[in-house]
Amino acid sequence: MPEFPSYISSKLPHQGTTIFTTMSALANKHDAINLSQGFPDEKAPRALVSLVAQYMRKGFNQYAPMAGLPYLREQLVAKAKKLYGIKYNPETEVTITSGGTQAINATIMALVKEDDEVIILQPAYDSYAPSVVLAGGRPKFFDLTLPEYSIDWDQMKMFINGRTKMIIINNPHNPSGSILSKEDLQELDKIIAGRDIIVLSDEVYEHLIYDGAQHESVMNYPNLQSKSVVVYSFGKTYNCTGWKIGYCFAPEALTKEIRKIHQFQVFSVNTPIQMALADFLNEEEHYLNLKNIYQEKRDYFAKALSKSKFELLPCKGSYFQLASYQNITQENDFDFCVKLTKKHGVAAIPISSFYQTKQDHKVIRFCFAKQKKVLKKAAELLCNI
Ligand code: GLN
Repeated sequence: MPEFPSYISSKLPHQGTTIFTTMSALANKHDAINLSQGFPDEKAPRALVSLVAQYMRKGFNQYAPMAGLPYLREQLVAKAKKLYGIKYNPETEVTITSGGTQAINATIMALVKEDDEVIILQPAYDSYAPSVVLAGGRPKFFDLTLPEYSIDWDQMKMFINGRTKMIIINNPHNPSGSILSKEDLQELDKIIAGRDIIVLSDEVYEHLIYDGAQHESVMNYPNLQSKSVVVYSFGKTYNCTGWKIGYCFAPEALTKEIRKIHQFQVFSVNTPIQMALADFLNEEEHYLNLKNIYQEKRDYFAKALSKSKFELLPCKGSYFQLASYQNITQENDFDFCVKLTKKHGVAAIPISSFYQTKQDHKVIRFCFAKQKKVLKKAAELLCNI
């Protein structure tokens, strides 16, 4: 138990600094190739950067409306219609946020109350559970079934009870790279029917899906959609994670509550980038092509690692490749990642960090959203182990 001065009663006494911050700092300190924190090293599209600069010069530098610029919200609604066939109302059902993580936090703070139970499928992105705790709710951890990181729906049915307020899903999934199938969404749809459960669907990797698979959004299922908040991120789509901009769709009644929180967390998101993104959303071949670009990187990295002692797990989506290091050592995954960074010059994320109980399956996560020459160098180093 950490010690606190008497004037502090920590709301998250066991919470440390995120593993992404920790590993990126370690990578920088030791000048290692950073395949830990998930971010692309390709440049944001030049035309998009020029648009941001142009809008700044033109004077688009004051507060945007609290929920986001209507121009951008209209473009996003058109995109959702085109991709998933659903018509959201731009005024009342879409909110521009400071990245996906803030949308998730605002949603949980707005909709989870004291003692509400929230089902989190683990391994899980690290912001979900602390947000639930801060809202006064109780995270309930449901283990995905290895090695596919799939959902056992019969077990899920038994897991749900009268206090279940929310289920958080993440598709494509960080960190495992698994994706949900039509059947998965149909099961979820059945489970939710007739129950007062909200679905928070984190779909920030929607465009990173491989081998011809289609992204199954909750938006495709009318009953699910009517009770879902769906979160997206521009950072992953336009190589601009540092701009911290994302958005969420939700039916009006849910959006109304989310905005009550959003307005006091950040009030609104910066104006020139919203203008630029709204213009750039017309360039649909950019996002439609992402799956080809990343599939090539995934395959390139896997091939380069084929002679290593690592065993790669299937990656069907996202820009993360899981690898088992059972054949190398039995040490715990955090220590192994530290050693990998310091001694071998490649940083990765230990998967136990995505588990509440720090389950250690001797699996680590590499981010392959990197230039080929970087992946090549990293693979060379990893093959030497
Ligand atoms: N989503 C990214 C990841 O999983 C990083 C997010 C963060 O650093 N907070 O690596």
